[in-house]
Amino acid sequence: MIDTVMQRLGVAESLYRDGDYPVTSPSDGAEIGRVRLEDGKAVDARIARARQAFEQWSRVPAPRRGELVRLFGEQLRRHKEDLGTLVTLECGKIYQEGLGEVQEMIDICDLAVGQSRQLYGLTIASERPGHHMRESWHPLGPIGLITAFNFPVAPWAWNAALALVCGNSLLWKPSEKTPLTALACQALLERAMAEFGDEAPQDLSQVIIGDREAGERLTDDPSVPLISATGSTRMGREVAPRVAARFGRSILELGGNNGMILAPSADLDMAVRAILFSAVGTAGQRCTTLRRLIVHESIRDNVLERLKKAYTGISIGDPMEGNLVGPLIDSQAYDQMQSVLDRARRQGATVFGGERQLADAYPNAYYVSPAIVEVEHQDELVKNETFAPILYVMSYRDFDEAMTLHNDVPQGLSSCIFTSDVREAETFISDQGSDCGIANVNIGPSGAEIGGAFGGEKETGGGRESGSDIWKSYMRRQTNTVNYSRELPLAQGIKFD
Ligand code: NAD
Repeated sequence: MIDTVMQRLGVAESLYRDGDYPVTSPSDGAEIGRVRLEDGKAVDARIARARQAFEQWSRVPAPRRGELVRLFGEQLRRHKEDLGTLVTLECGKIYQEGLGEVQEMIDICDLAVGQSRQLYGLTIASERPGHHMRESWHPLGPIGLITAFNFPVAPWAWNAALALVCGNSLLWKPSEKTPLTALACQALLERAMAEFGDEAPQDLSQVIIGDREAGERLTDDPSVPLISATGSTRMGREVAPRVAARFGRSILELGGNNGMILAPSADLDMAVRAILFSAVGTAGQRCTTLRRLIVHESIRDNVLERLKKAYTGISIGDPMEGNLVGPLIDSQAYDQMQSVLDRARRQGATVFGGERQLADAYPNAYYVSPAIVEVEHQDELVKNETFAPILYVMSYRDFDEAMTLHNDVPQGLSSCIFTSDVREAETFISDQGSDCGIANVNIGPSGAEIGGAFGGEKETGGGRESGSDIWKSYMRRQTNTVNYSRELPLAQGIKFD
């Protein structure tokens, strides 16, 4: 299957067969490709070429740059099923979610095409007579993109579509666990570039196949003015000071520990469905996965009973075959999940589920039943992001206690409340409520739309991507003052004669 898909997506066989670094599918552990990891010298050469490509691309008018992104969106529409299949094969998320990821790419292309005609600045009143002030936005330079395995294509597209219309070239270092999807996106973009014509320079977009060393090389290079990095908080802790040391800019999209407050007035049917999708979807490997359920003590038993029943009915298995839960990415993720569950048991928590599944059928793949862990307190274990389907359940007595529990974790990505009480709902999304970048009412914490800014606070890194006014992050702001008078007055009334 892999060869057919790669061929349709236009990826040359030599790119994914001739290397020495194996790529395996989490679905069954089988090898699906071999890529070559690039060394530091190769990364440096790519950065130099990206710089040249930027010089050419930044001169192309923005609405024309939008036309390239429109053509790329067309390629994605044509190959949605192929790319969705590849996402599923390489990172193990179920096919429906693979398709959803490609749809997000299409959506951001549409947004970016419109944005290419809306890269607007301000005019500002000047205190000096005969003077105009304004604010202009200019292309920034080569943009370095580092991405995680669990969303192998959409976050790249969020950045890439906007960065391209803003006049920048791209250097993408995907996760070493998912290089094939990156090669496929690059091949589709190259097709769009061929259709677009000579105005798009050859090295406008490049993929760096490599591990963290390649990422560090990109991070350290002063000719890459912006690094947008998606991944663990550990990675962000390493990347942020390195970029800051050379006065570069970064957009950090790091780990989450997303909570739901479930109030007694909530519609429990809706809440249980939302919990299921957001806690077990993508096998708990979304940055926005629901990890903490803070439920009112009066409904705790009822909710737990319903949840356990729903968890028991989940189909776990091959992500291409219509199941709801696919595999974990690898054995390391499985070991980590088990060690956390063991620790929880030793600390007195009640653990439901969490066992390995389908080990006989797939000895080299790691399927698990999603776990529910009932805890008395929010201790260090709960405050850590374990990238697996573990839902911690805690109860609360009054709303203030729920809010305190909710915000008392180091991460600040996504959050939600289920309630029919307008006071609780409005408080949750007020400045006194959730401290996260995303705060929802009566929907789960995952599954964001591209129109809004995506990202989170605290150890999630503070970055924002996707819609709203995020295009500004990929441009440099310039303040202009134009004197059209015959005098030279100084600001603040200063006399200098
Ligand atoms: P990871 O941190 O292991 O790797 C992410 C990327 O960073 C990879 O490309 C890796 O090669 C690179 N990298 C690692 N160390 C680096 C360094 N020192 N310098 C430069 N690059 C480096 O993450 P992962 O296991 O691939 O992904 C899961 C994590 O990503 C979870 O914590 C999840 O919450 C987070 N995530 C966050 C978002 C978000 O938008 N907030 C989205 C997806 C995933």
